Amino acid sequence: MTQTLDPRGLCPGCAHVRIVESSKGSTFLRCDLAKSDPRYGKYPPQPRMRCEGFVVSVGGGTSS
Ligand code: SF4
Repeated sequence: MTQTLDPRGLCPGCAHVRIVESSKGSTFLRCDLAKSDPRYGKYPPQPRMRCEGFVVSVGGGTSS
């Protein structure tokens, strides 16, 4: 599964997102809210235009 960082969606600007890079160089957006809330998928389909869990991130997503 490969996701592209689509700037049209909410996830890239959300405080709950983590940008994950695979060993093969693919980039994924992982939703950390999925750890505590089953309504959210670990790797939400992109672009996600509406989300009740969205929280503005001051610095954007972080890598892990
Ligand atoms: S809470 Fe919603 S907007 Fe934020 S990373 Fe998860 S799916 Fe994306």
